Amino acid sequence: MAPNRFVYDFDEPSEGGRDLLGGKGIGLAEMTQLGVPVPAGFTIATDACRAYTESGGQLPDGLEAEVERHLTSLEEKSGKRFGDPGDPLLVSVRSGAAVSMPGMMDTILNLGLNDDAARGLAERTGNPRFANDSHRRLIQMYGEVVDGVDGHLFEEALSKLKDERGAALDVDLSAEDMAGLVETFKGIYESETGSGFPQDAREQLSRSVRAVFDSWDNPRAQVYRRAHHIPDDLGTAVNVVQMVFGNKGEQSGTGVAFTRDPSTGEPGLYGEFLADAQGEDVVAGIRTPEPLERMEAGMPDAFEQLTATMRRLEEHYRDVQDIEFTVEDGSLYLLQTRSAKRTAAAALKSAVDMAAEDLISREDAVARIDPGQLDQLLHPMIDPSASVEVVAQGLNASPGAASGKIVLDADTAVERGKSGDSVILVRWETTPDDIHGMIAAQGILTAHGGMTSHAAVVARGMGKPCVAGCEALTVDTVARTAALDGHQLAEGDVITIDGGTGRVMLGPVELVPPQINEDFETILGWADDMRRLKVRANADTPEDAAKAREFGAQGIGLCRTEHMFMAEDRLPVVREMIMASSEDERRRALDKLLPHQQADFEGIFEAMAGLPVTIRLLDPPLHEFLPPLEEATDEHMRERIRALREANPMLGTRGCRLGLMWPEIYEMQVRAIVRAALAVQERTGDAPLVEIMHPLVGFGEELRRLRVMTIAAADEEGELEYLVGTMIELPRACVRADEIAEHADFFSFGTNDLTQTALGFSRDDAEGKFLTRYLEDGVLERNPFETIDQGGVGDLMRIAVERGRSVKDIKMGICGEHGGEPKSVAFCHELGLEYVSCSPYRVPLARLAAAQAALKESGIEAVASGG
Ligand code: PEP
Ligand code: MG
Repeated sequence: MAPNRFVYDFDEPSEGGRDLLGGKGIGLAEMTQLGVPVPAGFTIATDACRAYTESGGQLPDGLEAEVERHLTSLEEKSGKRFGDPGDPLLVSVRSGAAVSMPGMMDTILNLGLNDDAARGLAERTGNPRFANDSHRRLIQMYGEVVDGVDGHLFEEALSKLKDERGAALDVDLSAEDMAGLVETFKGIYESETGSGFPQDAREQLSRSVRAVFDSWDNPRAQVYRRAHHIPDDLGTAVNVVQMVFGNKGEQSGTGVAFTRDPSTGEPGLYGEFLADAQGEDVVAGIRTPEPLERMEAGMPDAFEQLTATMRRLEEHYRDVQDIEFTVEDGSLYLLQTRSAKRTAAAALKSAVDMAAEDLISREDAVARIDPGQLDQLLHPMIDPSASVEVVAQGLNASPGAASGKIVLDADTAVERGKSGDSVILVRWETTPDDIHGMIAAQGILTAHGGMTSHAAVVARGMGKPCVAGCEALTVDTVARTAALDGHQLAEGDVITIDGGTGRVMLGPVELVPPQINEDFETILGWADDMRRLKVRANADTPEDAAKAREFGAQGIGLCRTEHMFMAEDRLPVVREMIMASSEDERRRALDKLLPHQQADFEGIFEAMAGLPVTIRLLDPPLHEFLPPLEEATDEHMRERIRALREANPMLGTRGCRLGLMWPEIYEMQVRAIVRAALAVQERTGDAPLVEIMHPLVGFGEELRRLRVMTIAAADEEGELEYLVGTMIELPRACVRADEIAEHADFFSFGTNDLTQTALGFSRDDAEGKFLTRYLEDGVLERNPFETIDQGGVGDLMRIAVERGRSVKDIKMGICGEHGGEPKSVAFCHELGLEYVSCSPYRVPLARLAAAQAALKESGIEAVASGG
């Protein structure tokens, strides 16, 4: 077997690509091979990091010898020797994983300097200030990264020296000052580590390589990976790069640049430059960098070369590039290139523009937009140029930003909302009793609960910002106060939440309105031409239906009817119906409800004229419509509440079980649906395509009986074409889909309940409790209520599709929360469903995700453009 190979020069081809060399390594190798000016160097592959981590911190056999060989070859290329006291070869050590992890791991510059070499460098360059400056930087970076010395100690010493000298900037310090600083830094290093700064260049290099490997597993990197679903076993590569110096004087410098503006997508160079500076100086804010254009006056040749190189890189990568460069004595070197991170607006604009420039195809353009990022554009956002002070961080449960006065309960939200205030409803967590407050509020903040908690789901449905699970929040509803990370707040104090990022800020912050612009429409228009899945919306009101249509919904996949029973003017009648002592009495109450229901449906049918509308008959257990036992008004009601009480309502008399026990309820709903459809047809001439859906069916016999009832009631009302179908939300329904399909015109997967029943997780008891632990501990990688558990729930769906279709060609879709989640949309595409249905605000991203799923089939993978 060939010995393991871990190290690759930049000019050597390798087959492992980004996974092996990391993002930075592959960029350096490709730029070198393109002939772009890049300093020489080599990459230690991610394999070595994996081996190091697996062995508990042992460098793999042969690695050191291999590094030595590549170092020798670097010495030959550069004509300098590593550790040479006269004219030393200096290198930087830079981490670089396959996936960008900004700022998670560190860089060390100027490796190879020691006391002798610094003197040699000073003589050789005739620039002792530069040599001393490089030396003190090495001690600082090495001290921090390799030995964990507190960086403040170095910063404080530097500030103190500047104060003593009356120097405003680092560049105002003299060569002697820098020499003094080297001694001070060495002293700090020694007192913090107990030994002197290593003089041996090879020791410096080998300890730096280990430090990069170790940094892969530091806590902030782990947290970042968990948050971004980056696997722990990718490992990082290490790039050893010959130093080029931006700190050699006025003809040198360092900068970062983008080939297009990363916040707007406007074409044209965009970046910053700092003369006589090194490494992180530009981003670290030590001096204020200058806009890139200023470089043209000072070093025109390097500037021209830079613009030409950037054009070339963008053409090569066919994407907006973000580069780092250094100019040494007028010569340009590129140190890094990568796809630029950009705002959603910039992602759209650059994709549309690049397609117009024939740099990419329309398919590429569509494949490049991150559906999750698109979501941001549909809601007000924090003004990107506003300065914000974040006091707490929660989950980014529903996108958009809002500023408003704190209110601690739903009634107060309504009261204040009525008087014209913007309010943020701040709760430990929300329940269905808070709905009116959520409607009145501009945003919702909870201390508890996850991404599919009540607050999150309802807020997303309403298109309102929500930050959930904000642990730094405490709420005292008795004292009517809240605290955010120790900041005491009273009701009426203003805060701002950003549901797209989970940030919470004190006071108001400048917002910008939703940005559905031409680029947005263009990309979605292209996406519509590419997708096979239809996209419908879950909508229960005419307003939601209209919104959904605006966002491009092709119908309603789920109209839940329970809110209609909960409405203030209906609840007394609903209670009357439940309390009735005979069927007759019950029917009389239902007769009173029917016109209300009919009006509800008419509004929705009108908003969706000509499109399919799936109406689901009543689902929840009846006790949900009664008050708590303590609030019962008489003994009869108490008795009723006791009789309806269930140990486990989620698995109790709900869905079609309710319809079979109390058929007159469903009958009333069916009559209301048909009357509404006929009325709308007569009024507008445009009949809706009515689909009547029965919830929680598990047996063919249930649906057979319900179908008989449905058809009998509907046909009595007049002539209308309609379908009768069922939700598929129980494991039994999946495995016996053949038996159920006999009586169904369509299936709609209710993956909320299917996930609960397949996994045996009650959502309310899982999220914020054991499920949160499972996700933290890595027992589960993703929340199954957010993205379909493809291995379990997904397989049940597959079985249902196969067995259902074995009986007849039956229309199938999904209407659980997953229907708007990109990975789940892709899965539904693979299953061959006809449509997905999701909340109105997620319709645009479902359209995009559906197109990306179709593109994947033809070999075009979705790659979020650095988003
Ligand atoms: C489902 O269970 O997936 C569904 C859509 O129904 P609900 O969320 O109303 O139970
Ligand atoms: Mg359900």
